[in-house]
Amino acid sequence: MTNTLPSLKNHKMEKYRKPDKFYTDRYDRFTIQELKMLEAKESTELQEVTDSHDRCKIEIQHCMDFKSFKNTAISRARNREATIREWMTADEHQDRLVATHPLPTNITCDSCGAPMRFCLHFFDVESIPLLFVFECPASHAPRKVIYPNGREFFFPWPTCGQCGYEVTRESYKENDVLYTTTTCPMCGSVKNDELNLNAIQRPELPVTEDDRQKYCLSFFNGRTFYEDLEALANLFDSIEEEQKEQLLKEHYEVDKIEKLTIPALENRLQKAIESTGFIKFFFAQPEMKTWAVVPFNIQDPTDRNDKKSIKAATICIQQSLYLTNWRLVGGIDYRLGCLTGKLKAYEREEDLIKLAKDIKESKK
Ligand SMILES: [Zn+2]
Ligand SMILES: [Zn+2]
Repeated sequence: MTNTLPSLKNHKMEKYRKPDKFYTDRYDRFTIQELKMLEAKESTELQEVTDSHDRCKIEIQHCMDFKSFKNTAISRARNREATIREWMTADEHQDRLVATHPLPTNITCDSCGAPMRFCLHFFDVESIPLLFVFECPASHAPRKVIYPNGREFFFPWPTCGQCGYEVTRESYKENDVLYTTTTCPMCGSVKNDELNLNAIQRPELPVTEDDRQKYCLSFFNGRTFYEDLEALANLFDSIEEEQKEQLLKEHYEVDKIEKLTIPALENRLQKAIESTGFIKFFFAQPEMKTWAVVPFNIQDPTDRNDKKSIKAATICIQQSLYLTNWRLVGGIDYRLGCLTGKLKAYEREEDLIKLAKDIKESKK
C-alpha cells in the first residue's frame, strides 16, 4: 500500500462564489461546444445527399429529434438563466457554510504526529453539509476528513458490487498513475482501477461574443417542432370553433336579436313602462366594465301594493326586452312607490347564442 499522497491544491482562501461571468461562460461554453458538435454532425448527414426527397426526410428527422441541434439549442437557451442562478446560489450556500464553521484545529498525522494542514472542503457527503479534508505536510496517507466539531469522519467501507461483502483495496503508484486492486474475500471478484494523477486538465476555451450570440442568445424565442405542431393544431381547433359558432348562430337565428343602444333602450322602455301606469322612468349612470349594466328608476303613482307593482314592472320590462340583447338582472326593489333595478347588455357572440337559444326554445 502506498503511504504518500499527491498534493492537493489549497482551496482555503478561495471563495466558492465566482463573478457572474464565470457562470455564464461556463454555461455558454458547454452550449457552444455541444451545438458546434451537433451542427457538424447534422451538416455531415446532409452533405452527400443530393436527392431533395431524401434531404427533406433527414431534415424532418432533425426536427423531431429532441437531441437535434435546434431542439438542443432551444432547451439550452430556455434553461440558461435558471441553471446559472442555481449554480450561483449553490456556491453562495457553500461560502455561507464555510464562513459559519471555523476550521477545526489540532488535527495531527497518525504516521508522524505532525499537525496536518487543511486542503479542501467536502459538501453534502453522506448528507453531511460540510466536511474538512486535512493532509500531512509529509504526504502520509491517509488524509483525514473532519466534521466541523473536530470529530473524524470515516467513509463507509466499500462493498462488493457482486455479493455486497466488504472488499479490500490495495494501491500502488507508478509513473504518476495510481493503480488500485479491489478484491472481495467472499466471492473472489477482483477489480483493477487506474487513476492518472497527472491528468492534464484541458484549458477552458474562451467564449467569443460571436459564438455566444449565435449559439446561446438567438434561440430564446425559438419554437420546437412539437410546439409548432401544437400551434398548428390549436389553429385548426380555433377555425373549427369559429365554424361551430357560425352554425349555431345560424341555427338559433342570432341575427334576429335586436341589439339596442342605451338611448334606444331608454326610449323603448319609457313608452312600455308609462303605458303600464308608471311614471318618471329614467336611467342612472351606466357601469361600463366587462358588462354594460344600466341602473334604472321608476315611480308608481297608483295605489298598487309593492308586490303587484314589482310584478307589473318586471313583466313589462321582460316582455319589452325579450327579443333584444338586454336583460333584467336581479330583482326589482320597491320602496315608497319608487322602483329600482338593473339592466344588463349581452354583447359577446357566445352570450348572444345563449339568448337566441332561449328565445328559440321558448317558442316551441
Ligand atoms: Zn505524517
Ligand atoms: Zn463479492
